[in-house]
Amino acid sequence: MPSLYNARVYDRTLAVGSFWETTLPPLALEIVPPLLQDETCEVAIIGGGITGLSAALQLAAEGQQQVRVLEAGLPAWGASGRNGGFACIGSTWMPHKALMHKFGLEETRRFYQNQRQGVNLVRQVADAEDLAIDAQGDGEIAVAHHPSRWRSLQSAQDFYTQVAEYPCQLWSTEEMSEQAYRSPQAHGALWVGVGFGLNPMKYTRGVLQAVQRRGVAVHGQSPVTAWEKQGAWHLLHTPGGVLRAQRVIVATNGYTPEHLRPDWQGTLLPVLSAIVTTRPLTAAELAAQGWHTETPLFDTRTLLHYFRRLADGRLLFGGRGGLVGSAAESDRRRQALIHELGQMFPAWRSVEITHFWTGLVCGSTQLTPHVGRLPGDDTVVQAIAFHGNGVAAGTWSGRTAAQLTTGTLTPQDYSAVYQQPLKSALLPGLRRWYLRSAYAVAQVADALPSR
Ligand SMILES: Cc1cc2nc3c(=O)[nH]c(=O)nc-3n(C[C@H](O)[C@H](O)[C@H](O)COP(=O)(O)OP(=O)(O)OC[C@H]3O[C@@H](n4cnc5c(N)ncnc54)[C@H](O)[C@@H]3O)c2cc1C
Repeated sequence: MPSLYNARVYDRTLAVGSFWETTLPPLALEIVPPLLQDETCEVAIIGGGITGLSAALQLAAEGQQQVRVLEAGLPAWGASGRNGGFACIGSTWMPHKALMHKFGLEETRRFYQNQRQGVNLVRQVADAEDLAIDAQGDGEIAVAHHPSRWRSLQSAQDFYTQVAEYPCQLWSTEEMSEQAYRSPQAHGALWVGVGFGLNPMKYTRGVLQAVQRRGVAVHGQSPVTAWEKQGAWHLLHTPGGVLRAQRVIVATNGYTPEHLRPDWQGTLLPVLSAIVTTRPLTAAELAAQGWHTETPLFDTRTLLHYFRRLADGRLLFGGRGGLVGSAAESDRRRQALIHELGQMFPAWRSVEITHFWTGLVCGSTQLTPHVGRLPGDDTVVQAIAFHGNGVAAGTWSGRTAAQLTTGTLTPQDYSAVYQQPLKSALLPGLRRWYLRSAYAVAQVADALPSR
């Protein structure tokens, strides 16, 4: 089956155009040379984003000598180098009540503890490797976009306090304007004390360097185009050579080429997300919206907006949407995001937009992330489907995938929520139509007061 979206979404030769790219020199291909001959290794990792690199870091830490990473573009080309930089929780689209109903209190609590470990792990890796990641803020803030959404914040507070055991504070509109900002679309907020903001390009590239310092070979421009099994060996075919590996970790998230394995087909729900950034805002401009927080924020819409003030004063503002991924649709998304930014922050309506980019976040049909062995072949471990929150979850899942691969961890050691087998959607060819319907329903629901 062809890819879900327009070919340009997967085209590694097109410029991404993100603000983050301007914060580091471009990565030269010589630093991550393609695989140019047949090689053999113990563990091959497919995907050079934060999940694959975190897996490589853990394998190196456990003394695995022969590890290679295969990346179709350049490391950090995928979502890891172009996300909003929320190192936060939230890697599921399953509502809290449904999680509790399906998995029970203990496994749901474990899931939230695992997510918190992910946030802590990002900090630990950054500290241990001395990475300059431009960390900002404390926790994450959910903003009621309409007075009727206050109740949903109250029930989220109950969940985070009683089930997840996270620190939380509910803020009235007044308190919120003291703590964060003022807006016609801000009617109170819930602060959750787990998470922070970072520069995802600096973070992912920093982890890349840490991995390479430990002798792991990372190959850019080495897409796996075919995957065979010969006896105990996996043969991963790339344009420059075949990598023979005893074990494989799959870390391809929203860019997973479903045609590579029949058991992947129809299992994932990649979704387009887009971001704009403004030029740096002056102190007077920030004051015009009463803005004084560095903590990452999002609103209570189902088609949510996520936003944060970056270290140099610019606003990053993102949202999901788009069903095709064509250049024309991208342009419409850009205009729509700028319009939505202006509605939320009227004082910044005419501020220059410096960057716009898009990328794929990855859902799954079971609405939960997946970290586990491939059914029928326990020499393959997958870490995938972070539902738009993979900075911390990908870091944690990559490490967990590596530990499952070496046997230093077993499935009993982490939440059952991660261990639902991937399963195909009903009529997978219609996934974009399902999304179209879901977006239409969400748009109506977001515009109406909730009951
Ligand atoms: C616009 C946007 C905003 C986001 N904002 C946030 C946020 O603020 N906070 C947050 O936590 N998450 C956010 N996310 C999600 C987050 O970025 C991802 O969940 C996370 O980066 C996933 O990391 P990964 O390494 O698993 O996947 P990716 O970073 O996508 O890496 C997968 C890699 O696999 C490679 N690949 C695919 N197929 C092959 C193949 N056949 N052979 C070799 N390589 C292959 C791809 O080229 C790609 O580089 C956002 C995503 C987007 C797109």
